[in-house]
Amino acid sequence: MDILSMWQQSLPLLENSMTQVVYDTAIISIVPLSYENGVITLKTNRDFYKPSIEKRYLSEITRCLRSVSGIGDIEVRIVSPEDFDETNLVRRKNYDRTNLRRRYNFDTFVKGKCNELAYAAAEAIAEHPGQTEYNPLFLYGGVGLGKTHIMHSIGNYVVDKFPHLNVLYVTSEGFTNDFVDALREKRMDDFKKKYRSLDILLMDDVQFLEKKEGTQEELFHTFNILHGNNKQIIFTSDQPPKELANLEARLTSRFAMGLMTDVSIPDYETRSAILEKKLDIEHLNIPQLVKDFITRNIISNIRDLEGALNKLTAYAKLTNAKITLELAEEVLKDLLTPNQKPDVTVPHIQQVVASHFGVTTADLAGRKRTQSIVMPRQIAMYLSRKLLDVSLPDVGKFFGGRDHSTVIHSCEKIANEIETDEKLRVTVNDLERSIQGD
Ligand code: ADP
Ligand code: MG
Repeated sequence: MDILSMWQQSLPLLENSMTQVVYDTAIISIVPLSYENGVITLKTNRDFYKPSIEKRYLSEITRCLRSVSGIGDIEVRIVSPEDFDETNLVRRKNYDRTNLRRRYNFDTFVKGKCNELAYAAAEAIAEHPGQTEYNPLFLYGGVGLGKTHIMHSIGNYVVDKFPHLNVLYVTSEGFTNDFVDALREKRMDDFKKKYRSLDILLMDDVQFLEKKEGTQEELFHTFNILHGNNKQIIFTSDQPPKELANLEARLTSRFAMGLMTDVSIPDYETRSAILEKKLDIEHLNIPQLVKDFITRNIISNIRDLEGALNKLTAYAKLTNAKITLELAEEVLKDLLTPNQKPDVTVPHIQQVVASHFGVTTADLAGRKRTQSIVMPRQIAMYLSRKLLDVSLPDVGKFFGGRDHSTVIHSCEKIANEIETDEKLRVTVNDLERSIQGD
C-alpha cells in the first residue's frame, strides 16, 4: 500500500476520533511525504500546528495508519516548513544518516531484572562512549526482548548529547550489503572511510554474518581500527559469542573482549510496567482486567506484547467496539502463549528424575547397582507406570531391557516406601508435578 492511499484511508478514522475543528484545521493541513524504513513522514503546511499535532494527535494518527496498513510498528514523523530550513535540513540529514529510530530511547525503555545489566552498561556507555571497559558491549538474547531498542537508545542519547560524534546503526545484513556493493562498484575506499571514521558503531544481529567470510574479515579489520582508537562498538546477537560456531574464531573472540550480557524474558512485573509504558506513550487507556489478561498471557517476548496491544486497539477502532475482556480473549486468541504442557513419555520422565537426582538417563537405563542410582531408577519406573498407560515389559525396555518382574518389584517397592517415608513421598509428588509441567 502506498503512502497516499494509507493517508487517505486514515482520514475518515481520524475525523471520527477528534473534534471537527481540529480535523478541519490541523489534520487537513497535512500532506503525506514519504514512507521509508518504517517511518512515515507527514508534513503540515503550518509551523504552528506541528507542536500540537505532535503532542496531542500523533499517537492517534499513528494508530490509524497502523490499522489501515496492518503494519504494527510504523513510526510517524511530523515535519513543517521550518524543518526545511538550511540548518534543520542539515541536522535532519545527519540524523537520517545514523539510521537511528527516535522512538527507541531510554525514556521509552523499561528497566527490569531481565535487562538490568544490559541497561546499566548501556547508560554508562551513553555517558562515556568508548571510555568504559564495556568495549565492545555484546548484547545477546532471544527475539523481541529489547536488544535493538537498547542499542538505539545509546545512539539517540549520544547524538543528542555529543552532536559532534559520528554514530551509525547498521544491521549485519546492512553491513554485508554495503560491503558487497562497495566491492562490486569498486568503492572500497568510501566504504572504509564510512566505517572506520565512526565514533560509535552499533551493529545489530551479528549472527547473520554466518558463512559470509569476506564480510567477517572486513568487520574484523573495522573492529580492530575502531577499537584501537577507543571508539565504541556495540553488537547484538541471538546467542553469546562462543555459541556462534559459524563465525570465525578471531571475530568471536573480539566480540567477547568487553562486556557480554544477556537480556532475558521479562517477569510479570516488568511485562506489566512495559504495558503501562506503551499505553502511556500512546495515550491509551484499557480496563485493568484487559491489562491483566494481556500481561498474564503474553509472556514469551515484548514484541508480542506490543503486537497484542496494537491488534486489540486497531480491532476496536475499526469495528467501533469497546475494549472488554471478552473482546481481548476473542481478538488475541492466536497470539496467546499456549500454556505448554510437556508431552509426558517414559524418556521425559527419565529426564526429569535423572536431573533431579543428579544422575544421567543412561545411568537409569544402565546396569549400575549403587544405591544413588537404584533409587532414582525405581522411582522413574514407578512414575512411568503411574502416569502412563505403558505395559510392564514396555517400561522394562526403556530401562535397559529389564524384564517385567524387575519392573513390578521396583514399582511395589516405591509404592510401599512412600507409605511410611514422608520425605520420599514429598519428593515423588514433586517429581510427578514437574513431569506434568505444573
Ligand atoms: P530484539 O532486538 O531483542 O529482538 P526489540 O528491541 O526489537 O527486540 O524489541 C521488540 C519490541 O519490544 C520493540 O518495539 C521495543 O520497543 C519493545 N521493548 C523491548 N524491551 C522493552 C523494554 N524493556 N521496555 C519497553 N519496550 C521494550
Ligand atoms: Mg533486534
